[in-house]
Amino acid sequence: MREGDVCKKATVAMNSSGIGPLALRHPEKAHRPDNPIPRKPDWLRVKAPGSPEYQATRRLMREHALNTVCEEAGCPNIGECWKQRHATVMILGRVCTRACTFCNVATGRPDLLDPHEPARVAEAVAALGLSHIVVTSVDRDDLDDGGAEHFARTIGSIRAKAPGTTIEVLTPDFLHKAGALETVVAAKPDVFNHNLETVPRLYAEVRPGARYFHSLRLLDQVKRLDPAMFTKSGIMVGLGEDKTEVLQVMDDLRAADVDFLTIGQYLQPSIKHHAITRFVTPEEFQSYRSLALGKGFLLVSASPLTRSSYHAGEDFARLRAARAARLAAAS
Ligand code: SF4
Repeated sequence: MREGDVCKKATVAMNSSGIGPLALRHPEKAHRPDNPIPRKPDWLRVKAPGSPEYQATRRLMREHALNTVCEEAGCPNIGECWKQRHATVMILGRVCTRACTFCNVATGRPDLLDPHEPARVAEAVAALGLSHIVVTSVDRDDLDDGGAEHFARTIGSIRAKAPGTTIEVLTPDFLHKAGALETVVAAKPDVFNHNLETVPRLYAEVRPGARYFHSLRLLDQVKRLDPAMFTKSGIMVGLGEDKTEVLQVMDDLRAADVDFLTIGQYLQPSIKHHAITRFVTPEEFQSYRSLALGKGFLLVSASPLTRSSYHAGEDFARLRAARAARLAAAS
């Protein structure tokens, strides 16, 4: 999970001892040392949300009792995306069983599984009239299948209720959940996304519950199970990586035949989260994009505000067109 940005409510309300709303939301982070949040450069400033369309999307999510990663992660793009009625639904509850140091999604004891959630997601997708939907989830290490069956049921419900909508899943890593990946792939989402989030050297600190090569193998396995399925992955920059390491991640993803790469700026949700080491300039993002395209990705989105679900609908159309063009050129 990513999309992180400042959770203003939690940050403002927390005192210096770490006791306060943030400690409740992220109990495992309460005793971490403070990391002051640097001022954002101009290129990361966005308008506050509030358009009538934004309000309508918000109402619809409330009416269907759905969680979104847009809100839970405090995504900076929410004003723009929700204005276009594009929200990323977060299934399997609001509480994550991992404790990634970059992420603003609440951690702790997970919610009970709601068997009616897949149907509500489908109803909301139909009501929004979406051409493309992204469905993600919290990590559910407590469930035998990691939530795979719930993902599959959600895909099935959307197909039944909104057959014209293409579906992108952004899944957890299903570590130690035999058969989980196969269950999700068999449900035939149009795009299978799993984010590597950062370079391997930083995993122990940034994604302590995850394994870089397991995540990479997961993406590789999707292509082996269904060679026609589009695969996608993303990383954040500004966590302490260097350029050589980013290029190595690109090579690893191409070796796993991943089609689409996203690269965005990490934004620190609170003083208890992983420190931002630097703001990568728009020119450097442009350079990453060119280098990644040169390595053979079908599509690359790299910009300060890129998030894995940002402009996902338009990008899916581009992805299909890029594959068709490449196949035509090869024939
Ligand atoms: S970029 Fe993704 S998470 Fe952020 S607001 Fe848009 S849809 Fe939601």
